Amino acid sequence: MNDEPLKQDRVIPLLILCALGAIAFTCLGGVLVYNNTQRVSEIGDWLDHSHNILTTLQMQSQRLERMNYGVQLYQATGSNTELRLAQSSAISMHADVLNLESLVRDNPEQMRHIRELDGKLNELSRALNATTLSGNTIDQRIQDCRRVVNEIQQEETDLLRQRTDARQKGRVLTVLSGAGFLGCSLVIVVALFGFLLRDAFRRHSFERQISIANDQLAATIKELEQRGREAALLKEARDELQLCVTLQEAEECTVRHFQELVPGSRGAILLTNDSRSLTESAATWNHPDSLLDAFDVDACCGLRAGRPRWRKPGQSELHCSHFLGTPPENYLCIPLVAQGETLGFVYLEFPTNEIASVAEKRISLVEEMVELSSMAFASLNLHAKLASQSIRDGLTGLFNRHFMEVAFERELHRALRRHAQLAVMMLDVDHFKSFNDTFGHEAGDIVLRSVAQSFQQSVRSEDIVCRYGGEEFIIILPEISEKLALERADTIRRNIHGLRMKLNGETQLSVTVSIGVAMYPTPARDAANLVRLADQALYEAKRAGRDRVYLAQDSSHSQDATELLLPAVSFGEGAKA
Ligand code: GH3
Ligand code: MG
Ligand code: MG
Repeated sequence: MNDEPLKQDRVIPLLILCALGAIAFTCLGGVLVYNNTQRVSEIGDWLDHSHNILTTLQMQSQRLERMNYGVQLYQATGSNTELRLAQSSAISMHADVLNLESLVRDNPEQMRHIRELDGKLNELSRALNATTLSGNTIDQRIQDCRRVVNEIQQEETDLLRQRTDARQKGRVLTVLSGAGFLGCSLVIVVALFGFLLRDAFRRHSFERQISIANDQLAATIKELEQRGREAALLKEARDELQLCVTLQEAEECTVRHFQELVPGSRGAILLTNDSRSLTESAATWNHPDSLLDAFDVDACCGLRAGRPRWRKPGQSELHCSHFLGTPPENYLCIPLVAQGETLGFVYLEFPTNEIASVAEKRISLVEEMVELSSMAFASLNLHAKLASQSIRDGLTGLFNRHFMEVAFERELHRALRRHAQLAVMMLDVDHFKSFNDTFGHEAGDIVLRSVAQSFQQSVRSEDIVCRYGGEEFIIILPEISEKLALERADTIRRNIHGLRMKLNGETQLSVTVSIGVAMYPTPARDAANLVRLADQALYEAKRAGRDRVYLAQDSSHSQDATELLLPAVSFGEGAKA
């Protein structure tokens, strides 16, 4: 594997070397073929040369024949013309010998023969030019010349044969070497081409792999960026949730972030009430139309399962029953669980498949967001509980005695400043001890809670309802006249009188209350006095038969305070005027 880059590094110098080798080889082949062709051409020249010599020698032979014939005719006829013709032939032969001499100058052997021929010709010429011709001598000389000519001819014919052979060999060599070099060059070119082609294919394949790798890299970067954005979104949600001081703020923050996490979705945050009997919509986004505002805890399959549940067509067909009319096709319910306690659930509805697929891709983020919200809700709930525990009574949820004392001072100061009246009611459940004894302490607690709720509902929001202790209560009513205070007290009494509570879903319980009312600034001028007078009025109400309202009178107008405190105003059964 590691050798691969090394091989790639060597490829280019190797290719250049091969190309240079191919060029050098082709040039060498060209030079060799050229030289061969030159040699063949030279041999051709030499062949022409030999042909010239042979032609001249042929002419010499013919002249010797003619000379022999002329001499014979001269001897037979005595014709001088024939003799002169023979003599001129001898002269021509001399001229030819000179020509031959120039032709065979490169060949010492032939030169020797030519000189010999020249000598024999001189002898022949002398014999022809002699005053008395001797036929035998001339014949002998002609024979000598012919012999020498034949020898030269023989020699030249051998040379001619050798040169013809050499030329033939040269031609074959030229053709073979040309074909050989051409073939080799072709092989090299084909090999180089193949090499380049293979390289091109490899490069193409590498480029494809690189392109695929680049695409994958780009996708990874995109995904990482997306994850970064999502992580930033979650961090932002966590930071914002930490800043929330009320449950409502936390709910609004959660809603905002769900809208960002799954754009286009609809949804709601649904919280279970303290008695775990009802789940109510606390906040919504994008109007989930068919979702009910309040329903039984059992209505949600996700809550029942205790884990996220996605209702999808073709996958999980069962519908939750927290819808009014036709439920949507695609929705998700994720329980809000913190510290092992189920607070409710987050409902997400997906109007299109595209939105659902976005949610599916981000499901881990959605679940994380739900977890963050659960923790924030739980912590804010706990905070609110702790805060209320310091000022509220645990059983009834009313303000406790400590708060009442603080609120009392504040309200008295306000009444003094505004020159307003203020009423204090002291309320006590009648015969509560025997009620407890008959039905048990638990039933007593239920009654206390119901009575407290009824008190709260019977007064204005600015009135302060407190549990004073046991089954005794105090209500502070700022800015109220005596008449109105007595009317309100009687309303409270009547409401309790008509209140029916169920024990274990069967036994119907009912109680009555007695109420003592004291007014500020007359007769009471401070908090202690107000409570004391209200308590005395209550005592009188009890004494008078219970289930009634008594107003405390100004004790300064009478010698006997108890007497004077006897009801000037009384409501209810057995009320005294
Ligand atoms: P009366 O009509 O004179 O007021 O009679 P009573 O029985 O109501 O009077 P008493 O003050 O003797 O009884 C008060 C009883 O209230 C005593 C106690 O058992 C009961 N009680 C006080 N606090 C609680 C409480 O938190 N829960 C329950 N169940 N009972 C309580
Ligand atoms: Mg009592
Ligand atoms: Mg009582």
